Amino acid sequence: MNRELSHDLRLTSYEPRKLPPWLHRPLPASETYDAVDNLLSSLGLETICTNANCPNRGQCWDRGTAAVLILGNVCTRNCEFCSVAKGKPAPPDPTEPARIAEMTKRMGLKYLVITSVNRDDLPDGGAGHFRKCINETRQQCPDIKIEILTPDFRSCQAKALKVLQDALPFVFAHNVETVPSLYPIARMGGSYQRSLSLLKMAKESYANIRTKSSIMLGLGETDAEVEHVLKDLRSVGCDKITIGQYLRPSKDSLEVVEYVTPAKFDWWKQKAISLGFSYCLSSPFARSSYFAEQENTL
Ligand code: SF4
Repeated sequence: MNRELSHDLRLTSYEPRKLPPWLHRPLPASETYDAVDNLLSSLGLETICTNANCPNRGQCWDRGTAAVLILGNVCTRNCEFCSVAKGKPAPPDPTEPARIAEMTKRMGLKYLVITSVNRDDLPDGGAGHFRKCINETRQQCPDIKIEILTPDFRSCQAKALKVLQDALPFVFAHNVETVPSLYPIARMGGSYQRSLSLLKMAKESYANIRTKSSIMLGLGETDAEVEHVLKDLRSVGCDKITIGQYLRPSKDSLEVVEYVTPAKFDWWKQKAISLGFSYCLSSPFARSSYFAEQENTL
């Protein structure tokens, strides 16, 4: 941990021997949660909420929100922090856009988050399928605001952004996830510079669009490295940031190195705002899609 930055906070880190009290959450149980669960199942839709074992599922689904996962639930990469299945994905399902539109209508959503696995097997990285999902949903629900959380479109960034040109989302999000020094262990198939480049190109290609990224803490990063990432993101025009605690989603995933305290997350929020982000959600349970709809009414 950076000595200068951590001077007043050195007692606030928590060794990961057991889950700290602020990370205990009651199990979900409500009619709305069940209704969301049933609707998603009946429409055959995937969510990142389930596939990533998100700890917020009880709260988000109870509020009647969810983040849909398109292009299947099998990823072409093998990130060590993520529990989504890895392997050879199926071709895009042409019925998926209509099913997402139906879900949006039936849930009465005003704000929809769409994300996907990495699809390095597709020539446009899946951008065309994002476009179809956006357009179909807008046709059925004209007032909807859509946020997309995309992969890094490894070898086709310019092509993917062009494909999306006539289906621009309200927010374009892509997560850097962690600091560059941890990419070799946490995000082997990714490239920090490539992720920054995508956010930069999106900001430059699309007029009036908001861009957003997310970083997890607790994987062994230093404060200086996190601050560097925040500055890098601002340097490519990133408007919004979420900062959350890494939680091991499965027994095969990377171990947690540190549980960062709520006080320290508050401190990061102030830091992010002072660096010029227009919005920062920084808390142990913050995730890219967590309360996404609320941040856009602020
Ligand atoms: S934070 Fe995002 S991924 Fe997690 S449950 Fe909520 S909507 Fe789903």
